[in-house]
Amino acid sequence: MKRKHIVGNWKMNGSAVVIDDVLDQLLKQTLPADVSVCVPSPYLQRAGERLAGSSLRLGAQNVSEHGDGAYTGEVSARMLRDVGCHLAIIGHSERRRYFAETDESVMNKLARLLEVGLFGVVCVGETLAERDGGRAEAKIESQLAQLHTLMARGATPKRFCVAYEPIWAIGTGRAASLEQIAQMHEFIKRCLGASYAVLYGGSVKAVNAADILALSAVDGVLVGGASLDAKEFGEICRAAS
Ligand code: PEP
Repeated sequence: MKRKHIVGNWKMNGSAVVIDDVLDQLLKQTLPADVSVCVPSPYLQRAGERLAGSSLRLGAQNVSEHGDGAYTGEVSARMLRDVGCHLAIIGHSERRRYFAETDESVMNKLARLLEVGLFGVVCVGETLAERDGGRAEAKIESQLAQLHTLMARGATPKRFCVAYEPIWAIGTGRAASLEQIAQMHEFIKRCLGASYAVLYGGSVKAVNAADILALSAVDGVLVGGASLDAKEFGEICRAAS
């Protein structure tokens, strides 16, 4: 059986002290999954040094859609690789909502990651109104459409995965049902190909992780709030075994 991927998204939370503490606690645990932690960008270098030589992978929460150059405030894919990142989350619904990211900019960001050999975790998800209106699959299909251009240029399942994150489930304590998750993951695999990994994100906690991770179409989980608690995040990782 393939190992599941567990990705923690710390969002704009934490401090040097908190990050050292959570990473040290995680490093002491046995984690039977491929585990990554996406820390805020000012702490990437510090976290990278702490994780060096361990099996825990370092990730970013965003990347510039541009290469190095005159883009004040941006962080390029090459810089992320320089500080030890293996992957970056792109197209998170919070970035689409608050920073006007589009499917096109998400595709450009994935292209920049692939150019420097980093792995992309591409987030997609529908609003509650879209789900209630029967438009969830159409929304996801449209968000995935641009990826086909990169897939045609060699973006294989080794280079990126998709995180299905229904917007109504993020940070609400209301995870999607197992049936909703299974249906959408199977749909995404039909759109992209069965070998592309699909993670689920949206109110994953220690209490529901085992049931979600047991679904055959679920290749892992993207965890927000619960990933800042080393004990709970460790339990989620162990639920993958
Ligand atoms: C997320 O931010 O990607 C997320 C899934 O958050 P939470 O687990 O807190 O719902």
